[in-house]
Amino acid sequence: MVGLGLGQVGGGIEVVCGPMFSGKTEELIRRVRRAQIGRQKVQIFKPAIDDRYHKTKVVSHSSQSIESTPVVNSLEILQKLYDSTRIVAIDEVQFFDEAVITVIRKLARRGIRVICAGLDQDSDGMPFGPMPVLLAIADHVQKVQAVCSLCGAPATKSFRKPTDNRNQVMVGEQDMYEARCRYHFEYNDEEEELLNYTYALRPSASVQTDTVN
Ligand SMILES: [Zn+2]
Repeated sequence: MVGLGLGQVGGGIEVVCGPMFSGKTEELIRRVRRAQIGRQKVQIFKPAIDDRYHKTKVVSHSSQSIESTPVVNSLEILQKLYDSTRIVAIDEVQFFDEAVITVIRKLARRGIRVICAGLDQDSDGMPFGPMPVLLAIADHVQKVQAVCSLCGAPATKSFRKPTDNRNQVMVGEQDMYEARCRYHFEYNDEEEELLNYTYALRPSASVQTDTVN
């Protein structure tokens, strides 16, 4: 099971990811609480940008919370680390710069158990910031799912309700985003075009296949 043994003999990297409203932060808080029960020194960091609920607390959508240290960049994690810390938890890790990858690898090599939670995809359904690399180098990955707001199926996508602001770093609010299944997630035009193109290349459309090849 999750977390068993990790961080006791050596360091490790755990990633909890998924769309908005999937319980990523709850899972992070759950692991931190277990570590605290085990009397292990834990430090929790989050990007200073994510102050939607509370400046120094990691708060989940279901209002669980835990004290955390906001940092403006990933190097600040190293600067604020205590010698006695055995576990580092990082929430909203997708908002960090690429340097967070090096920071996390350093921590793990020092024997620290690093637990990261973040959005794997942005609202275009594309990999978010440092997440693809973190997922690749992690020792343990858990993808959590939300519930599609349209059909109730498991949701893996964060759908942004139509707005004129196209900034990827827009911090999520309940009324700006909703979780969607793959079927109910709107692809961008480019991707839609690619899908139509691929569809046209199916064997049944033999005339097009010949001309394209
Ligand atoms: Zn759906």
